[in-house]
Amino acid sequence: MKNTPKLEEQREFTEKIEKLHAWLNTADKILIGAGAGLSAAAGLSYLDEELFKKFQPEMAARGYRYPYELFQHEPWPQAREWAYNLRHIHFVRYVFPPAELYKKLLKIVQGKDFFVITSNCDRQFMRTGFPMERVFEAQGSYDRLRCTARCTRETWEVKPYIDKLLPLIDPETFMISDESAIPYCPYCGAPLDIAFRAFERYKAERQRYVDFVESTVGKKLCILEIGVGFNTPVVIRWPFERLAYYHHDAHLFRVNTEYKEWPGHGGYPMVPQELKLKAAATEMPYDAAHVIEALYQKIKE
Ligand SMILES: [Zn+2]
Repeated sequence: MKNTPKLEEQREFTEKIEKLHAWLNTADKILIGAGAGLSAAAGLSYLDEELFKKFQPEMAARGYRYPYELFQHEPWPQAREWAYNLRHIHFVRYVFPPAELYKKLLKIVQGKDFFVITSNCDRQFMRTGFPMERVFEAQGSYDRLRCTARCTRETWEVKPYIDKLLPLIDPETFMISDESAIPYCPYCGAPLDIAFRAFERYKAERQRYVDFVESTVGKKLCILEIGVGFNTPVVIRWPFERLAYYHHDAHLFRVNTEYKEWPGHGGYPMVPQELKLKAAATEMPYDAAHVIEALYQKIKE
């Protein structure tokens, strides 16, 4: 009897999980690359309209739908800029809890020689207990502020301004009501914005990642890429493909599916033909949550 498509899909999923599980168990080194798809699978999606209505109701009322469309926007007055950004950062960093999915991922690799590179700025790896000397946040985080005129390399913690300015948001205008409370650069008076990668220790953190990749030469290497699309492919996606291609004993597992909030867009599990011919990569067109859950069940067996 012929298998129905659904059974066939299930069989393929199980096979690929077995293969990934075997690689995770036998590799000397594990390199994880995590993008927005991982946090989306954990419930923190920048395309989620319902979530946006909850934590940015004033902006939803103004016709905006989700954070992704506001990553770049028309210039706003500083009072609006601060209201929006602080609300966003406060929700992502302090209201949204440390995600169970990340904790499960940690359990899967705990005790192994692993390293994580992520383009996510939400600090979920830190908040779920990953040892941060094994994590490189390639795009930095929301945690610090810098001078927009770049007059200094000094940065400032954002948290005190969240505490001070959030209560000053006027829900009618969605502006900071007392503009004198908005911080400016203490040296040149320019506005401040989120520092992302522009903080003092960034170079040292990047070096740890480079050192780890170099340490995989001559070792068996499992490369697990989760939810990395084409927003910034130079950070994780393309380097991982090159690494899998040139490394003598590596395999790339690419977990990627379209966003459930945005059917028909995204979903890029495909790997280049060269990697397929070398049998150095496996396409996993599944939700990160399904893959991590399946692996997690296996380690509990
Ligand atoms: Zn300045």
